[in-house]
Amino acid sequence: MRSCSKKIGIMGGTFNPIHYGHLMIAEDARCFCNLDEVIFIPSGNSYMKETDDILSGELRFHMVKLAISSNEYFICSDIEIKRTGNSYTYETLEELRKHYPEAELYFILGADNLFTIEKWKCSERIFKECSLIAASRGEVEFDSLKKQADSLKENYQANVILLPERKMDISSTEIRECILNNQSVRYMMPEEVYDYIFERKLYSN
Ligand code: ATP
Ligand code: MG
Repeated sequence: MRSCSKKIGIMGGTFNPIHYGHLMIAEDARCFCNLDEVIFIPSGNSYMKETDDILSGELRFHMVKLAISSNEYFICSDIEIKRTGNSYTYETLEELRKHYPEAELYFILGADNLFTIEKWKCSERIFKECSLIAASRGEVEFDSLKKQADSLKENYQANVILLPERKMDISSTEIRECILNNQSVRYMMPEEVYDYIFERKLYSN
């Protein structure tokens, strides 16, 4: 019998700012896993990042909305930026689970995070609630990504899906640094986001 539960991708991130790397892995995940929708969730306070150069949740949320507006499968949620205190992914997933009791949840992440997720707070509750869809990134060899996926499967019974290899060498850190140094960041993100950043003189101190 065909299951008719909805398949929902969850794309968490600081999105400081959102760029084509984020959009590309979300779209790859949607297509590869036949997801019905992808929810972008900008982080609230991150306990793992220096907070000095992180723009307010409202600004990051607005840029995400601009970036995804042309994709009918993408939506954006403010559940993390509305929450006071630290952002914990397991809490977000458990909250989403209440809204979508029957859905299959898929947490989308880049290779860098596949190597740190074990250390995230209550990571076993993340693995219990959803499958992971991991994208290649940076220097990480596909073989070592596969080994890491296998180890998460073995140690935590995590369901890990690897996307076909594609590398988009863009990071928000690079974008922030380029803006500070007056270097071009055009074409690293949708034009709407680019215009918004420069109209508001974001990231330029
Ligand atoms: P920063 O440099 O500030 O950490 P970032 O570019 O890593 O920013 P995040 O908001 O930290 O962006 O990332 C959100 C998610 O998107 C993470 O799971 C991250 O691994 C993934 N991601 C970001 N950029 C890429 C990319 N170019 N290729 C693959 N995955 C990416
Ligand atoms: Mg990052």
